[in-house]
Amino acid sequence: MTPTVRIAPSPTGLLHIGNIRAALTNWLFARKLGGQFMLRLDDTDLERSRPEYAEAIERDLKWLGLDWDFFARQSDRMDRYAAVAEGLKAAGLLYPCYETSEELSLKRKMQLGRGLPPLYDRAALKLDDAARAKFEADGRKPHWRFRLSPDDVTWDDLVQGPKHFPGTALSDPVLIREDGVPLYTFCSVVDDVDFDITHVIRGEDHVANTAVQIQIWKAVIALEKRGVVPIFAHFPLLSTIDGQEMSKRLGTLSVASMRDEMGLEPLAITSLLSRLGTSDPILPRLSLAEMVEGFDIAKISRATPKFDLAELKALNAKLLHHMPFASVQKHLGQLGYALDESLWDKIRGNVSCLSEVSQWLQIINGPVTPQVADAALLSAALACLPTAPWSQDTWGAWTKQVKADTGLAGKALFMPLRLALTGLDHGPELKDLLPLIGPEKAAARLKGIAA
Ligand code: GLU
Repeated sequence: MTPTVRIAPSPTGLLHIGNIRAALTNWLFARKLGGQFMLRLDDTDLERSRPEYAEAIERDLKWLGLDWDFFARQSDRMDRYAAVAEGLKAAGLLYPCYETSEELSLKRKMQLGRGLPPLYDRAALKLDDAARAKFEADGRKPHWRFRLSPDDVTWDDLVQGPKHFPGTALSDPVLIREDGVPLYTFCSVVDDVDFDITHVIRGEDHVANTAVQIQIWKAVIALEKRGVVPIFAHFPLLSTIDGQEMSKRLGTLSVASMRDEMGLEPLAITSLLSRLGTSDPILPRLSLAEMVEGFDIAKISRATPKFDLAELKALNAKLLHHMPFASVQKHLGQLGYALDESLWDKIRGNVSCLSEVSQWLQIINGPVTPQVADAALLSAALACLPTAPWSQDTWGAWTKQVKADTGLAGKALFMPLRLALTGLDHGPELKDLLPLIGPEKAAARLKGIAA
């Protein structure tokens, strides 16, 4: 069977660093094995799902370069889930329950009070037709639970190794709500069977789901007479550098904010996430193909990887210093910057992410508030400021003259000029910047006037 994997985000928010990692890991796995990568939108929660988030997920994945081979939306497949549910009901594996959520939470409290695990007590299985009819006559609608077998559940996890759950420790899951809406636990299995998913690669927060879902898989496979239980890999979730859960601190670090606000390169994000939590070094990589090379799911360690925004930015800076202009140009355009290659070459060494381009453009176009560190030097420099036209040689000729006139050299000469002309103590080379700033603004800044 062709290795086939999927990512299944819910369009209830923007893609963030955690689900990009899931997407990228699945994508690399598929590409490495010549397999298929599916995008599925888990949008059965109609109240929380939004079309604009669905669009954003597609846009963000494309921006990252993670193309998918096929696509499905759960909300298009409701008839299919209903049909499979009918089959499970007929097989006695899906049974109606009438407890209200208050009744269930009371049961749970009592179990916990007695030191018991809060498993569903299967009271609904003891109802006879008359009792069920009475609930219906009272206006109660059933929700439906899957009847788990007491058999132990085991699987060989590609990241975590052998996993074992005693069947008796699991609670019959609700698969259909009382309003008839099927839940993720169920829809996901039906989809994975229908789309021939061979490997389910997801975060370790899904381990408990997997234990329950393996039994649902077996039931659906038996009913449909097709499919196999996939192979599983549960990777550890990211934490922040100081060990906090990602969702608490950086859960909001969305692709959109990294692209539109921070101006980070998609390749920086993928370079980091493709190797974070593995034994491989994290290096700037100029293409996804380079990341496919050497990817192996077995290299994912069980230890919690730490996500460090500073590391991502440093990687981004390295990439920008190596990337061909054509690759940067598109992203510059998306951020609203019109820069030619010669200007880019002048500033790239001082840009660690594209949002910083605006700073250097402002130094060229103004206004800049000059810093006056040595007024006497600035007035001597103003006195011999060359007339237009200016070229790259202007800086050298001019400072030679200033040096001769003032006797100053080195830092004592250059730093006050830089502070006046740019308002900063660092930046691209002044021989490059000076002709771009031009005589008018340079003269004003040397006088201490913002221009
Ligand atoms: N919609 C689920 C999630 O985003 C999918 C999990 C999965 O089965 O991969 O957590």
